[in-house]
Amino acid sequence: MPRKWRLTIFFALTAIGATGVAIIAVNQILGNLVEDEPTRAIVLRTTTGAMGGLFIVLFGFIVAADKNIYTSNIRDIAMVEAQLEQREQESRAKTQILSTVSHELKTPLTSILSQVQIMLRQQDRVGALSERQQRCLKGIQEDSYRLRVLIDDLLDISSIESGTLRLTLTELDVQLEIKEVVESLETQINEKEASVILDIPPDLSRVKSDKVRFPQIVRNLLTNACKYSPVGATTTITARENGEFIQIDVSDKGIGMSETDLSGLFDKFYRVDNSTTRRVFGTGIGLFITRHLVDAHGGKIWVKSEEGKGSTFSFTLPRGERE
Ligand code: ADP
Repeated sequence: MPRKWRLTIFFALTAIGATGVAIIAVNQILGNLVEDEPTRAIVLRTTTGAMGGLFIVLFGFIVAADKNIYTSNIRDIAMVEAQLEQREQESRAKTQILSTVSHELKTPLTSILSQVQIMLRQQDRVGALSERQQRCLKGIQEDSYRLRVLIDDLLDISSIESGTLRLTLTELDVQLEIKEVVESLETQINEKEASVILDIPPDLSRVKSDKVRFPQIVRNLLTNACKYSPVGATTTITARENGEFIQIDVSDKGIGMSETDLSGLFDKFYRVDNSTTRRVFGTGIGLFITRHLVDAHGGKIWVKSEEGKGSTFSFTLPRGERE
């Protein structure tokens, strides 16, 4: 039964009960006070009527007040719902703008990259380049790659937020895929004079994952391990079976994080603020995307970290068939 009706019945019964008790009490008192029978009857009728009227008026007030509270509650709820709907609409519009702008940026960037590649690789067609010109072009190429990663990250955010992130699951060879990621990051790893150790059993089952997204998850974690470790540090990537899942641990001996730093680590645009992270380029998008990619596979991601000692990022993805 709605709250309004429960309250109304409660007040009605209370008012009737209270009126009855009051009338009996007045009758008793007046019965003792007034001697003359006709006068007593008139006085009793008048007081009974007055008290009944008074209670009806009081009851009316209570019901009216309750009705006001009830309707103002409904108005408040409707207002909050309208505000939420408006915010959702604004957020959908922002996601749409983000997606459109990112696509628009990607088209000219792809063209810049392919022109630079032609100039660097086909000098017999475009004319010989001096050492210096080649260096400049390589600089443009590297910055363009970085921009492309950033734009791809923005596109990923918009597909996560619009709920259009789709995976195509296939059975992947964990060792092979991780080796390819390490090779693709060779320049970055060499720049930091870092070493990467792979600890993956040869008979490990395959992983059921997306061909593009699996390397992306590993790349994000390995890039971070390099970025947030001192020169010459070692990162270990371990893979093993964990029930129905494959668990992968990316373990570094870098700057690590405190308990406080860890809260909100997988949130969008989150960056730990310290002297090292301020010097290292980052957007705080990588772990947000990584978490969503792992979630979309039905896996889990977590981190253990100690300030000054290093971090281990672990994630699980569904296990496939054995080799
Ligand atoms: P970005 O590296 O671009 O800032 P991420 O989302 O990948 O964004 O990481 C978020 C933050 O988490 C980083 O800014 C950094 O402070 C912290 N972080 C991530 N990985 C590590 C790591 N391996 N060691 C220490 N701090 C890390």
